[in-house]
Amino acid sequence: MATNRLASCIFCKIIKGEIPSFKLVETELSYSFLDIGPLSKGHALVIPKYHAAKLHELPDEYLADAMPIAKRIALAQGAENYNVLQNNGRTAHQEVDHVHFHVIPKPSKDEGLI
Ligand code: 5GP
Ligand code: ZN
Repeated sequence: MATNRLASCIFCKIIKGEIPSFKLVETELSYSFLDIGPLSKGHALVIPKYHAAKLHELPDEYLADAMPIAKRIALAQGAENYNVLQNNGRTAHQEVDHVHFHVIPKPSKDEGLI
């Protein structure tokens, strides 16, 4: 396993508990929590407990740990339709430079957005 390394970025601070978050699932290698600016009800983030800005810098074991969590969250939310998104770099809409996977339920029309 790659050495676990955390930095002073906002998501590393969330992992360390230095910034509060609404935790959903935590494993040895991953942490997941609700997005502070949800695009829909239940919008969650899954992050590796390893500070890498972009996906290609992330060791595979962290990736392998994160994906089943995204699946678990999507299942628990019970949304028929949802997006799992991961942005890399500013022009690709990445704002926080710590790899994260968005899990965004798409509510049915009568449920509304937030
Ligand atoms: P990006 O655009 O980098 O793919 O997405 C970053 C996401 O992180 C955004 O959806 C934003 O709302 C979320 N975010 C940024 N800072 C915080 C925070 O301090 N707490 C939580 N829970 N989410 C955050
Ligand atoms: Zn970080």
